[in-house]
Amino acid sequence: MIFKKKCPYIEKCPMFAYLESDFSRASYRIIYCLRDFERCVRKPIRDRGETVPDKMLPDGSMID
Ligand code: SF4
Repeated sequence: MIFKKKCPYIEKCPMFAYLESDFSRASYRIIYCLRDFERCVRKPIRDRGETVPDKMLPDGSMID
């Protein structure tokens, strides 16, 4: 399957290291990173060259 809207940061996005389960990692990848990265609040921050908190989720909430 080809994902036309794959996020350019997917290979090195630090958020994934803080997710506890393979299920949650896979879910975020499918919902945001591979299909609709424009919905992710992390990406525009990174595009601007600003620091993104590692634990910030694509919806802007923070991992505990
Ligand atoms: S979480 Fe956001 S910034 Fe990180 S790879 Fe996925 S879409 Fe890109």
